[in-house]
Amino acid sequence: MSTTMRRAVISIELPEIKIWANQLRDTIVGRRIASVSAQFTDRMRAAGRVNNRLDDFRGLEGAQITGIRSRGFTMIVDCYASAVCHLVTAPEAGGSIVYSPSGPKPKTATKTANVVTLGFKEGSTVRIELAGRGILQFIPDEPSMKTCLIYTRDFQRGISPLEPLFTARNFISALSRRNTQIKSMLVGAHSPVVGIGNDTFQDAAFRARIHPARKVRDLSENEMRSLFESICTVIDSRIAEGGKTGFSDIHGVPGKYEAAMGSARVESGCPSCGGVVQRVRIAGHLTCLCPVCQNVRP
Ligand SMILES: [Zn+2]
Repeated sequence: MSTTMRRAVISIELPEIKIWANQLRDTIVGRRIASVSAQFTDRMRAAGRVNNRLDDFRGLEGAQITGIRSRGFTMIVDCYASAVCHLVTAPEAGGSIVYSPSGPKPKTATKTANVVTLGFKEGSTVRIELAGRGILQFIPDEPSMKTCLIYTRDFQRGISPLEPLFTARNFISALSRRNTQIKSMLVGAHSPVVGIGNDTFQDAAFRARIHPARKVRDLSENEMRSLFESICTVIDSRIAEGGKTGFSDIHGVPGKYEAAMGSARVESGCPSCGGVVQRVRIAGHLTCLCPVCQNVRP
């Protein structure tokens, strides 16, 4: 089933959500929301990943945007109407955020789109669309924020690669000596590091020459240090290069970061040894790796 030619949607991981958050912070903080439109498919509403009542988003009308935060895969737009409220999004399986200055109206949403558009007084808009599984919720107050699952997952636990606490020593101690595959440990809701998606992981593991199925307890201190450094390199480079290829920032500028290891290498071969890149299912995702450069044994 993995042999279909259908182009996969571009997952949004920590570097990409950070780029959007930085740009929105520079663009819309201080502005007042004049209008909100929301549209979700029944399927998305039933899945509980968006507000079931579209009218909920009306709570944003008249609100002023006071800040933008991101951590892990999640971005929070902080607002103030008569009280503090928030718009929370994590388009993990793909999506877009597009800023349009006053002028041409954003394209109308198709019937199957899951989209929220914020309109500002001076005519500019921000359109947030989920292309696949993801979260897009209006959070009316602080107590509701505490029960928002992605808030607790991404903002209240773990260490973030973009924060000072993300050091080699803390990374190695967070991995401990568990009898778990390194891939399963780092990618997923219970990872000790927030925001490591499949793309970040497979690229970092390749750069560190570590096979994704290796058990954490079998990794040497040098290998763990190397993995830590590779994660930093991948995330910093991806942010510096405007995101991975296929991603677009809020102004429509495409990302330029080409992964050292990823599905694009399946045809072109390993960038290091020229060998055949494999795609194997580990911890629920298809993960690309070079069986020569990333040995199963240390
Ligand atoms: Zn190789």
